[in-house]
Amino acid sequence: MQGTAETLESMTEEVGSATLRTVSLRGFRNFPALDLTLPDAGVMIIGPNGSGKSNLLEALYYLEIFRSFRGARDRELVTFDQDVFRVSASIERAGRETQLAAAWQKSTRRKKVEVDGCEPERLSDALGRFGAVVFSLDDSELVWGSPSRRRRFLDILLSLVEPGYVGALQRYRAVVAQRNEALRQNRLEVARAWGEGLVEPGARLMEARHRWVAGRNEEFAGYHAMIAGGHSANLEYVPALGRAEPEGPSGSWEERIERALTESESSDARRGVTQVGPHRDDLAIQAVVDARQEHRDLRSFGSGGQRRTAAIALRLVEADSLAERLGSEPVYLLDDVFAELDETRAARVLELLETGRTGQVLLTAPKPVDLPIRGGSLERWRIQEGVISGV
Ligand code: ATP
Ligand code: MG
Repeated sequence: MQGTAETLESMTEEVGSATLRTVSLRGFRNFPALDLTLPDAGVMIIGPNGSGKSNLLEALYYLEIFRSFRGARDRELVTFDQDVFRVSASIERAGRETQLAAAWQKSTRRKKVEVDGCEPERLSDALGRFGAVVFSLDDSELVWGSPSRRRRFLDILLSLVEPGYVGALQRYRAVVAQRNEALRQNRLEVARAWGEGLVEPGARLMEARHRWVAGRNEEFAGYHAMIAGGHSANLEYVPALGRAEPEGPSGSWEERIERALTESESSDARRGVTQVGPHRDDLAIQAVVDARQEHRDLRSFGSGGQRRTAAIALRLVEADSLAERLGSEPVYLLDDVFAELDETRAARVLELLETGRTGQVLLTAPKPVDLPIRGGSLERWRIQEGVISGV
């Protein structure tokens, strides 16, 4: 959407290093009320399973994308028996403070977003204002989960870093829904007309996905090799239209979408659904997993730790993409990031988070982490049943 492009563009000039100063939660999950002031370097938050560690990071990241990073519905985020949740925070960049707030009401299903006390015209205009990246244990699901999980990763990231992406995504989704409706009603002429409307936004999504994956593959491989002791890895964009270069013998993205829609039209009509297009794309994540030195799809062949390794490498690439777009490092929200990693890999991840990265860190873990994150300068807080102590 144009608004988002302009918002992000203007941010590029004024942004320094982002620091989360204060946070206030009301009625969010197991936090009926929570108010925090955060240290500059960040904090390590330790607490047992189910105490609210992931909930806290979920609340904070809500201010980046205005939905749950865990894929939860808004109504699930409201504290049991309450009607409204509200999350607000102040973020400082280059000496300038921005207030972000988001609220959602169960009874009216209304979401309200504010930037410095004003409601933006479109919610998408406020996307990415925080500048944060979450590393979560669930990220392994990025690797082993269904293609929709990886599309979601690409869609969220590209909505934050690629001007115009979120608008194209909204238009594309709206037209797919219309085409599906026409197909179900067996109105082929109408479906064909809607199909034409898929070409422009669809090509834009595919072009952006292709460019991001191709442009970031080397960086991903580098991070992966660093964590996994030299084992190589790669990312590959897998369009649902078939693997091919966009301007190769099979034509431009536009031509390929048009052709694919025509070819699948009768089958789509029988099933009442659009079966080809970027809404079915995937991202292949492959790596060397043993001495054979061949790249294998980690979705099928990766161990738990190998999948986590690839997921962390992917998040590091995401952090770099955000930093380039914003002109500053994001705030690192690290949800139990060292779990499942052997000592060697944990030490290498730490090194990657320490070398050349100085952004604020909010690290959660069930047990104290004996690794010198931010040079060992992080304060340690305890969390128990949604209450934080040691502040
Ligand atoms: P783990 O170490 O197992 O990952 P965690 O500290 O990350 O634990 P969270 O996922 O943050 O745990 O919190 C889970 C707790 O939040 C559970 O006790 C759950 O019942 C509670 N919870 C989840 N949703 C709500 C809600 N809408 N209202 C109140 N409590 C909720
Ligand atoms: Mg958790």
